[in-house]
Amino acid sequence: MYKFENIVGNENILSSLIKSSENNTVSHAYILDGKEKTGKQLISKTFAKLLLCENSKSSPCLKCSSCVSFESGNNPDFFFIESNKKSLGVSDIRENIIKNLETKPFKYKYKVFIIKNADSMTIQAQNAILKTIEEPPKFAVFILLSKNYNGFLPTILSRCILFKIKPLSPKIIEKFLINKNISDNIAKFYSVYARGSIGKALDIAYSKTFISFRQDIISDIEKLDNLDLIQMYSLIKKYENIKENIDQILDIYLLVYRDSLIFKQTNNFDKVIQKDIKICIENISCMTTKNLVLKIEALLKAKLYLEQNSNFNMTMECLFLKLKEK
Ligand SMILES: [Zn+2]
Repeated sequence: MYKFENIVGNENILSSLIKSSENNTVSHAYILDGKEKTGKQLISKTFAKLLLCENSKSSPCLKCSSCVSFESGNNPDFFFIESNKKSLGVSDIRENIIKNLETKPFKYKYKVFIIKNADSMTIQAQNAILKTIEEPPKFAVFILLSKNYNGFLPTILSRCILFKIKPLSPKIIEKFLINKNISDNIAKFYSVYARGSIGKALDIAYSKTFISFRQDIISDIEKLDNLDLIQMYSLIKKYENIKENIDQILDIYLLVYRDSLIFKQTNNFDKVIQKDIKICIENISCMTTKNLVLKIEALLKAKLYLEQNSNFNMTMECLFLKLKEK
């Protein structure tokens, strides 16, 4: 259900969107920029629903014909544009947007267009949409969703109101999960793996496989010390085969070393997040503090390199040689 009450965090963005609706200062074009699963669609669709609502300018009433048809995916004045190709081309923009601007809204005040992965528009597509953003019909509102707003032409950026969605704090995510009836202790370490994203937190919380996946990675960590080089390379190969999860895998490593460091410093489990793997934490905490810190640094570096698309095998090789160092 698209309503503001379902959105966690991002209060500043919500309040300026709502204000613009209440004060009739809605802009023709917005960019909502943020990492994957940080709520871009939820926020933009709820705002679209508000703009089209017949009864309220502050919060979708959920009852009018617009709100009802929006929820069922049949609102005639709402357009969600996504492409299953790598990039959005001129023809996508012409077919889905420019054509629909020739006629007035069917029923409501606006025609609202949300473009998913808008930063994947080709230069030609961006130029095509630029013309409409520069001289839009009164009723048109565009909301461009992006993961990296630097992918937009400066001319597009200068015409749009840019909102950057920030990752949420683990505390907020933890509270959200507890409200969803997930036990306190589990919510705490899920909130760390979620890395600021409610969407990721929910994926993990409702995944049937995450618990066994995590257990498997933790047993890899436990064996790390005794691996010879051949075994090390086969471990890297194993991770290469599930490369799409590497960020999560390295997060599991990080949290184990983090907990071990905390245990080493405090000599008790109070501040340790993963109380379910006490023996593993105790064993790893036998390393020197310096060594633990070096390993955490190596993991953070590897995560950064992989995010920047560095060579997978080389990055992992360097990482695992460091993790194996005694
Ligand atoms: Zn309504």
